[in-house]
Amino acid sequence: MSGAPAGSAPESAAPRSADCSRCLALCCVGPAFAASADFAIDKPAGTPCPHLGADHACGIHAQLQERGFPGCVTFDCFGAGQQVVEVTFGGASRREPAMFAALEVLRPLHEVLALLDEAAGHPASPTHGPAAADLRARVEEMVTRDADALAAVDVGAVRREAGAVFDGVVAEAHAGLQGRDLRGADLVGQDLRRRDLRAARLRGALLLGADLRGVDLDRAELLGADLRGADVRGARLAGALLLTGPQLVAARGDAATTVPAHLRRPPHWIPSAP
Ligand code: SF4
Repeated sequence: MSGAPAGSAPESAAPRSADCSRCLALCCVGPAFAASADFAIDKPAGTPCPHLGADHACGIHAQLQERGFPGCVTFDCFGAGQQVVEVTFGGASRREPAMFAALEVLRPLHEVLALLDEAAGHPASPTHGPAAADLRARVEEMVTRDADALAAVDVGAVRREAGAVFDGVVAEAHAGLQGRDLRGADLVGQDLRRRDLRAARLRGALLLGADLRGVDLDRAELLGADLRGADVRGARLAGALLLTGPQLVAARGDAATTVPAHLRRPPHWIPSAP
């Protein structure tokens, strides 16, 4: 959320990544916040966060964790914010309420696109790559539609179709392997260092605060897994399937953690294990 000051360039030009300098801080205004471990305050929908500056930059960007806003650190619009401002609203310079509705549609579509980018090119799933590329092309057309047409997009249907593609990708990548089926498992706070999680199916698993230090997650499917606070220092994540940038940001890694080539190593990860 509203990370980079207005006008500054992003650290990375990774595809489907947020570039706050090209947005109008829509994510700091549109959603409602409920005071929780992720957000220190209640905030109604459509109301600017009190920490948001007139320049669309966050006034506490360097202290988000300490000030009780870790949810802002892990949030990623996958580039939907700049798509709303620059494409849907043609380069508008002021926020307007209709932008928030467009963001609610575009953000999940951009997340699907980020995952399809990986699925379309994954070397372990050459057969399903074309299906992923076909759906990606159709979703890329959807995200260019005007605000009225976006409102008519059935996001749930897109997600279901993408889910079927991801199932095929994972099945192909796991062919001949005997990974554990831990889909949706509650693994909160567990010590998983001795578990063989290679090729495990961890879709939607709750891994909050789990100890994954040094664990090999090669070909483990992590679609939608909650990695908030998970200790992934030294873990091998480079070969994990369907892992996104926000999941990495939410976890605690270090210089020894390997990450997929298409993702950026979170800059706040500690440089090495203590
Ligand atoms: S704390 Fe900063 S990043 Fe979070 S909503 Fe407020 S202005 Fe945006």
